[in-house]
Amino acid sequence: MKIYLKKWSFKMNIIIHRGTHQIGGSCIELSTQNTRIIFDVGQELLSIDDIELVNRQKKISVPGLFNDTEKNVDALFISHYHGDHIGLLGEVCKNIPVFMGEKAARIFNTTALFINSKIFVNPAEYLVNGQEIVVGDFSITPYLIDHSAFDAYAFVIRGEGKCVVYTGDLRAHGNKQNIMKAFLKQLPSDIDALIVEGTIMSRLTEKVKTEAQIGQEAEDFMRIYNRPIFVLQSSTNIDRLVQMYKAARHTKRLFIMDIFTAHIVSQLGSSIPNPRTFKDIRVFYPFYLTRRMFSKSNSSKIMRKFSRYRISAEELSNRKDYCMLIRDSMLFDLDKRIRNIEDAGLIYSMWNGYIKSARMQRLMNFVGSKNMEVIYLHTSGHADVETVKRISRACRPQLIIPVHTEYPERFREIFNNAIIINDRQLLSI
Ligand SMILES: [Zn+2]
Ligand SMILES: [Zn+2]
Repeated sequence: MKIYLKKWSFKMNIIIHRGTHQIGGSCIELSTQNTRIIFDVGQELLSIDDIELVNRQKKISVPGLFNDTEKNVDALFISHYHGDHIGLLGEVCKNIPVFMGEKAARIFNTTALFINSKIFVNPAEYLVNGQEIVVGDFSITPYLIDHSAFDAYAFVIRGEGKCVVYTGDLRAHGNKQNIMKAFLKQLPSDIDALIVEGTIMSRLTEKVKTEAQIGQEAEDFMRIYNRPIFVLQSSTNIDRLVQMYKAARHTKRLFIMDIFTAHIVSQLGSSIPNPRTFKDIRVFYPFYLTRRMFSKSNSSKIMRKFSRYRISAEELSNRKDYCMLIRDSMLFDLDKRIRNIEDAGLIYSMWNGYIKSARMQRLMNFVGSKNMEVIYLHTSGHADVETVKRISRACRPQLIIPVHTEYPERFREIFNNAIIINDRQLLSI
């Protein structure tokens, strides 16, 4: 394999606009003579739940993506709904067709509705596992992968006789262990370049916990603790939610989710715990969220959708046999509305970096003042080093290009076919 850094016929060009040396804010362009396609338009933040960091964005400039040119980008593919992959969608030219998973799009749009965002996604076509999409010179086949975002995809891209794989964010330790196996089986054997995420490449020897282990530890905690349990987790981390539901069920606790989370899970089919088809799930209406949503003209119907499953603060105050998912925005409810939560248990089940934010600090101070027992139970949404090696072994690519990593040079230590490029550098294969 030769790498041509100058123009040549029959070539595919790769430009990583952002992500060669950082986690989050990914934006990758593949092009031929006639066609340009983009994978992900991320903001520099780590979670769709985290809107505090939005203002610190560095702009990226991609002609024909964020500003109209004579010939705009031909298509935008979104691997998943995390803000560091879709956060700049609102700035993308409106005439560019967007491709995204159907359930992922629903989660994104439901979140937008509840956080008062004006940015909704309206995909030209939904990504379906293994179903090829043709855009100009390119054939793009999405494959469902395991990540902390539901309905996330990797892509096998062919054009000009070349084959590139972009993994998006992925891991092998989620609830559905067979997803990675199926993905590896689908990978072709003629891959010219594998653009692979390396989020936790710095932790070479770390063995990550599986979601199932997190669930078991949560269950152990709920079993010994005869008090209400609160779980601080992202409403869109569905693997985690499923584990917490199972733990609650095994310890005979009522599972409480708020109205926003109820809307999220109700988009995902009947196998995911939801108030409608799972008897032991009730819905809490947080004060500020409810007030804000009812003040919007078209939202009261949305809010009433789960009212028959509602559990009041009063009822919660009189019980201790429940497990309730919470967010930092629900501090008022914990402080002023739900009583008898002294000595409750709190499972902190998110990335520990969030704990430094002012909002989280306020919540954790409150938790301390109520003498709650706090445990930290979390696992990454990203591949450990062993999994990255496994992907490489399965498809034996000519080149490995690290992305979504702060340590691209680690790839050079592990893979002799890894190359490190910089943001905005043109690589022709
Ligand atoms: Zn990411
Ligand atoms: Zn992600």
